[in-house]
Amino acid sequence: MEVVKTDIRAQDPAELQRIIMEKGWPRYRYDQVAEWIWKKQKIDFQQMKNLPKDLILFLEENFVFHPVVIDKVQHSNDGTIKSRMKLHDDHLIESVLIPVPKENRYTVCVSSQVGCSLTCSFCATGKMKRMRNLTAAEIFDQIVLVNQQSMEKFEHPLTNIVFMGMGEPLLNYKNVLKSVELISSPKGLGMSPKRITVSTVGIAKMIRKLADDGVKFNLALSLHAADDKKRSSIMPINDQNDLETLMEALEYFHSQTKNRISYEYIAFNEFNDSLSDAKNLLKYCNRFPVRINIIEYNSISGADFEKSKVDRLDVFAKYLINRGIMVTVRRSRGKDIDAACGQLANKG
Ligand code: SF4
Repeated sequence: MEVVKTDIRAQDPAELQRIIMEKGWPRYRYDQVAEWIWKKQKIDFQQMKNLPKDLILFLEENFVFHPVVIDKVQHSNDGTIKSRMKLHDDHLIESVLIPVPKENRYTVCVSSQVGCSLTCSFCATGKMKRMRNLTAAEIFDQIVLVNQQSMEKFEHPLTNIVFMGMGEPLLNYKNVLKSVELISSPKGLGMSPKRITVSTVGIAKMIRKLADDGVKFNLALSLHAADDKKRSSIMPINDQNDLETLMEALEYFHSQTKNRISYEYIAFNEFNDSLSDAKNLLKYCNRFPVRINIIEYNSISGADFEKSKVDRLDVFAKYLINRGIMVTVRRSRGKDIDAACGQLANKG
């Protein structure tokens, strides 16, 4: 009977260490294996040069790698690069490299799930079914692959990581946190957690859990409307996580971690971009320090929204800025290749 091999990178580290030691190898052999896998990113046991032959053979007989591979790459006129990536079971996900050379900022937007179970009405991913969660290694691989692209194209490594691609990260809580550990640990990619932002549509009890788990990364709430009726109409998750409940959870997150919190606010023409919408939004800006990123909307087929007119957006943003709120208005990137916010749907 053929042995079903385990994905070594999905194996619990303590368990892998136990297995290696139980077979008679000393503990440092486990450390060497982990270093090859996460720090040197090798996916072939034969390349693990300092391991004894019998350990390499044992690993080959019992374990396998399930690496993510780039399936298709699209280049936008503005420099953004969208990559469709293929998982070992043929599922497809997308990752986006957003370069801003003049600010020395090279950001990757990673996916955390194949598809999404939530159904935000403005989002292309929400129109796909959720197929499964990504493993921590699959999230890790996206960053490694996009980092290579950034080095090849811009001769600069990634500076920032945002979990804003396909899926809701807090519904894949364990693997997202595990991937952050791999990205930020000196035994992995060694990037500062302050360069990582996890973006959520807002699941109050998971935001509290992040605080209790003492995470070091930044949190972004996809707010998009600052009144419950409007928010629920575009984001059904708001029915169980209304704005007051979310604000209490964020207040708790801030008091426990002091990590940066931002609101993402996609501006939809004549839906959430009036002066009275700005006034509503202001009410949610005084409970903890918060930055607001106003994002230009990109239409997707099957949704009724349009992007805000420049003058409306101007009045909206100025109202908040004049009251001391940190606001950034972000022009969307990669629109021509469907790589912008809310457009990821494995179309290309
Ligand atoms: S916006 Fe995020 S949570 Fe909502 S449907 Fe899209 S991927 Fe899912």
